[in-house]
Amino acid sequence: MRRKLVVGNWKMNGSRAANASLLAGIVAGVNAADASCAVCAPAPYLSQCQDALSGSPVAWGAQDVSAQPGGAFTGEVAAAMLADFACTYVIVGHSERRAYHGESSELVAKKTVAVLDAGMTPIVCVGETLAERDAGQTAAVVSGQLGAVLDLVGERMAQIVVAYEPVWAIGTGKTATPAMAQEVHAQLRAQLMAKNAVAAETVQILYGGSMKPDNALELMAQPDIDGGLIGGAALKAADFLAILHAAN
Ligand code: PEP
Repeated sequence: MRRKLVVGNWKMNGSRAANASLLAGIVAGVNAADASCAVCAPAPYLSQCQDALSGSPVAWGAQDVSAQPGGAFTGEVAAAMLADFACTYVIVGHSERRAYHGESSELVAKKTVAVLDAGMTPIVCVGETLAERDAGQTAAVVSGQLGAVLDLVGERMAQIVVAYEPVWAIGTGKTATPAMAQEVHAQLRAQLMAKNAVAAETVQILYGGSMKPDNALELMAQPDIDGGLIGGAALKAADFLAILHAAN
């Protein structure tokens, strides 16, 4: 039985003042018996998250990482630095990174390994664009994205989290129907099974793409949807908590 996991992706939003109120609201509403949850904040605010969330059931993490271990890479943040702030999770391969920063699946695979090497859990994002879905390429696209990661992580497959995020559903208000999402999640599970059937049973596969309090329950009731990666709705404590409680 996989435990559900709900992760907020704050993207490039927040300020010290706004974060303080959001974090306090989340901590006040989380119960120890709830599903697992985490917030992935912009890197400058990880220290603030660590201060506010230490000792609470809420974990924290980052939204990206360098594939490089350190050195002359101006502007990059190494996995060891994120571990230094006690991050539990690091999102890798978000579609905004792939689209706006030209990240290839091979680079995403290297970032995944960097996160694992530093003792954290990578949340590996995969997903198709609308044009790819319309062209009937969804299965090929997501299996190629996941396959590049699986080839590199080998036996450590059990230590990753996968997030299926159809690009056309991110920040658009359009959500995949539970059946559409489940179909892709089942394909991803089958791909994991083909590599390691035992590990595939434990890998959490999150859905992301306009998940909201009013659709979270139905999505997370699907057999292969193990939680959510939440963008817009993670910026309001009440919405994030409503999604978290839908996961219980
Ligand atoms: C995301 O960016 O990971 C995401 C799922 O965003 P939203 O919930 O706003 O669609």
